[in-house]
Amino acid sequence: MILIIGAGMAGVTLARHLDSRGIPFRIFEQQTEFKNQGFGLTLRADTTQKLLPLLGLQEDAFGKSVAVDRRTGKTNTFLVDVETGARFAAASFKEGASARDWRTNRERLRGVIMGGVAGRVEYGCKMASFGSTAEGVRVVFENGMEVDGRILVAADGVHSDIRSTLLPRCVPRDWDGVMLNGTCRFGVAEWEEKMAPHVGDAAVYPGFADQTVLAITIYDADWDPVGGFVDVSWGYSRRRRVGHDALFVRYADRGFDKASAPAAFWDEIAALPEGLVEPFRTVFKGMKERGDRTIHHQLVSLLVPKDELLSKLQSDRVVFIGDAVHDWSNHAGTAANAAIQDALALGEVLERGEELEAYYEERYSAWLSSYEKNGEDFQVLHRPIGEWKSLLDQQKSDREEVEVKRNVAQL
Ligand SMILES: Cc1cc2nc3c(=O)[nH]c(=O)nc-3n(C[C@H](O)[C@H](O)[C@H](O)COP(=O)(O)OP(=O)(O)OC[C@H]3O[C@@H](n4cnc5c(N)ncnc54)[C@H](O)[C@@H]3O)c2cc1C
Repeated sequence: MILIIGAGMAGVTLARHLDSRGIPFRIFEQQTEFKNQGFGLTLRADTTQKLLPLLGLQEDAFGKSVAVDRRTGKTNTFLVDVETGARFAAASFKEGASARDWRTNRERLRGVIMGGVAGRVEYGCKMASFGSTAEGVRVVFENGMEVDGRILVAADGVHSDIRSTLLPRCVPRDWDGVMLNGTCRFGVAEWEEKMAPHVGDAAVYPGFADQTVLAITIYDADWDPVGGFVDVSWGYSRRRRVGHDALFVRYADRGFDKASAPAAFWDEIAALPEGLVEPFRTVFKGMKERGDRTIHHQLVSLLVPKDELLSKLQSDRVVFIGDAVHDWSNHAGTAANAAIQDALALGEVLERGEELEAYYEERYSAWLSSYEKNGEDFQVLHRPIGEWKSLLDQQKSDREEVEVKRNVAQL
C-alpha cells in the first residue's frame, strides 16, 4: 500500500497513475473538501504530452476542458512596456517557453487529472505524525486514524511537515522578491469594451516597469453575452528593495496575514505612473475602488540535497514529490509542471517495480537546473527600466537590419 499525503497537483497525479495501473494506494488531504488552490497555471508542452496518455484525452478535448478562457488559453509571446505600449519578444529569454505552452484553470485541471480517483481522496485527514514499522511506515492523523503502508509519499507542499520532521535543516530560503496578486471580474460586455481591444484573444498579458512586472491573466470565463463574465487574476511583482522593504515577507514569518495587503502596497499602486497604457490602467488603477481580493505571497527557493533524500528513503521509506522537495519562484512557471512530472516518474518506477532511487536519478538533474536557473529568470524579468529600454532599442535595430536584408534580397 502506497500512502500519499497531500492531494495537490503532485498527489492527485500520482493517485491517478497508480489507480490506472492497479497499484494499491490511499491519498489523504487535510482540507475538508475539494477546494480551489489558486487561479491559473501555465502548462508546458512537455508536461501536456506526458499527461495526455494517462488521462486518455486528445489535446483538443483536454484543452477545451481546462483552458482558462474555455477557448485556447493562449499565452502572449511578448511583454509590454506599461508606459509606452512597446512590445518586447519574451520567448527569447524564457528558457523552455514554447508557443504550445498554455494557460490552464487550476481547479479544472486538478479535477480533470483526478478523474475517477476524486472519490478516493480522504479529506479532513491531516497527518499528525509518522514512523517506521517492520513492513514500512505508519501514519497517525489528527482525527485519530492510524494507517500502515509500504511507502510514504510526501506530496504535502512547500510547508511539508514530513520534510521538516525528517530534514529539519532543509528550510526554504527567502527569495529576494515581492509578489502580490489579486482577482477581479468583468462582465462580458465590459470585457469586450475595455479589455479585448488591447489583449485580443490572449489569456496572459504581461507588462514591465522598472524592476517590476505587472501581469494580467484570465483564470476563468463564461462567454454568455448576457450573464457571462471574465475572471482576471492580476500580479504585481518586483525585486526586493535594498534596506527596509515593507512588502518583503520571510518564510519564517508565519504570522503575516497573506489575505490582507499592507498599506505600503496600496501606496505603490497609487505611485504607478499616471500614464499607464491600457489595459494596465483599467486593472491596476481600478483595484482599490473595485475592492479586489488580494494575496500576498511568500517567495522561497528550495531544493533538498540528493544524498539527504536517498538516506531518508533507506531509513524511513519516505519519498518526496512536488513542492515538498523543490520550490522556486512562480515566475519560472515550472514548479507545478515539475510536480506533475515527478508524480508521473514515480508512478512509472513503482509500476516497473524498480528501487525508488531510480526516481531520484531520473528527476534530480531537472530540479537542479530549474533551481539554478530560477534566480536568473527572476532578475531578467524584473530588470531596471534602463536595461529594458536598451533591449527594445536592440530589438528595433535587429528588425530594421532584417528588413534591409529582405529589401536587398528582393532587388
Ligand atoms: C501565484 C502562483 C502562481 C503559480 N503559477 C505557476 C505556473 O504558472 N506554472 C507552474 O508550473 N507552477 C506555478 N506555481 C507553482 C505551483 O502552484 C506549485 O508548484 C504546485 O501547486 C505544487 O504542487 P504540490 O502538489 O507539490 O503542492 P501543493 O499544491 O501545495 O499541495 C500540497 C497539498 O498537501 C496538503 N497537505 C499539506 N500538509 C498536509 C498534512 N499534514 N496532511 C494532509 N494534507 C496536507 C495541502 O492541503 C495541499 O492540498 C504557482 C504558484 C503560485 C503561488
